[in-house]
Amino acid sequence: MAEFETDFSDVLLRMSNRGITHAISIGSLAQNERIEKTVEIINSYDFIFTALGVHPKSLYKDLPDIFKLFEHYYSANKKKVIAVGEIGLDYFMPKKNLGEVKTKQKELFKFQIGLASAYRLPIIVHVRDAYEDAIGILKDYVKSPDGFFGGVIHCFSSDDPAIAEEFIKMGFFISFSGNITYKKNEGLRAAVKNIPNEKILIETDSPYLAPAPFRGKRNEPSRVSLVLDTIAELKGVERGKLDALTVQNTVNLFSLNGISGFYPSVAYKIGNSVYVNLTNKCTNRCTFCPKYQNGKSNFNVRGYNLKLDKEPAVDEVVSSVFRYYDFKEVVFCGFGEPTLRIETLKSVAKTLKKIYADIHGCSDLKIRLDTDGLANAVYERNTVPELGGIIDSVSISLNAQNSEHYDRICNPQILKKRAKAYDSVLNFIGESKKYIKEVTVTAVDLPGTDIPYIANIAKKLGVDFRHRKYNKVG
Ligand code: SF4
Repeated sequence: MAEFETDFSDVLLRMSNRGITHAISIGSLAQNERIEKTVEIINSYDFIFTALGVHPKSLYKDLPDIFKLFEHYYSANKKKVIAVGEIGLDYFMPKKNLGEVKTKQKELFKFQIGLASAYRLPIIVHVRDAYEDAIGILKDYVKSPDGFFGGVIHCFSSDDPAIAEEFIKMGFFISFSGNITYKKNEGLRAAVKNIPNEKILIETDSPYLAPAPFRGKRNEPSRVSLVLDTIAELKGVERGKLDALTVQNTVNLFSLNGISGFYPSVAYKIGNSVYVNLTNKCTNRCTFCPKYQNGKSNFNVRGYNLKLDKEPAVDEVVSSVFRYYDFKEVVFCGFGEPTLRIETLKSVAKTLKKIYADIHGCSDLKIRLDTDGLANAVYERNTVPELGGIIDSVSISLNAQNSEHYDRICNPQILKKRAKAYDSVLNFIGESKKYIKEVTVTAVDLPGTDIPYIANIAKKLGVDFRHRKYNKVG
């Protein structure tokens, strides 16, 4: 933007001096000069990424033109375009023609949400005086069969906790900027206290919304630290912890490449549990797998992108988990079979228990494993005794009343042992009962699956049973 024409390199230097290593610069598809400049910047600096979109307040463009522009800039800069944005609704304007403007903005917003689904990108959402309409549109997006790839409600400005809650329930992150430091924004400061730390992002919105004491001046990235200070103080959280966590949240949402030690959603938090995503490999190729639906892959769970660039090592997993600090349970789950990395799984579990006990002075950390129960078939040995003692509870997907149905819906990929897959799962359940405190068998309610029969198998084996809804993840 013109505001940075004369001292852009000084702005970057101040940013770096503050320890800010990466930035996202919004690219506006509605303004040719600005988008060209953005492309020049992301190609000149490894650490700057962009989002592409048409802001609701931009001059309106025809939808086919937006598509062409998006495709043009995206295909030439795939690694650096990390989202579709800013897109959204902004009704802050004189009442004249507001009805017509609303209609056009909604059409534009929905179209760009469609682009995000098609290109499997998260969205950066701008909402002003339009929360109700935005929530309605985003609810449809979250349920869209084309896929939901997460998003952030940028520069959140509502002081209504129910609105923030609606977005979080849908899987969105909430982002705060300099306006949270303004004297009169008591409501916003109250709202942030209710938002889970693992759902918070921070930003500057440069050149706008400079935090106090710079209010009214040009804003720049180095000042994001003042937003962090304010939120850390309001939430009574150590600054360094919130710093690491807001970076992790950013990586989890945008899957930023090139951040040393961070991998897209290696660890993500839902409620009091941190989920560990060790691998994207599977022993099965289930017909009902949410990651392969409608001929497309979708690795998004509740706004977290679980597609791994590479499988993380033990220390990378451990540091990703401990960027969260208020959790009671760790779950090995993700969009892959954790026992395919059984040695890493065991090392991570042991290390997590030890560090948690050192930090909290107690050994209360519960570790759960969600598995297909095929580890013994894969390794051709009884692996369960190795897991007993480090795993406190195990949830095993049985999914079928007999071997034929299992092969049909779970499609085991361990071909030479295919006939034995179902028996091996049953055996794994029996062994788990001997070595692991809590054992639960699960089944997804697909046509042809005899849920009461499977529940009865669980009962006979002396373990719990949980019936899972088709297409419900996270
Ligand atoms: S085991 Fe889970 S992640 Fe793997 S294919 Fe089956 S449903 Fe998908």
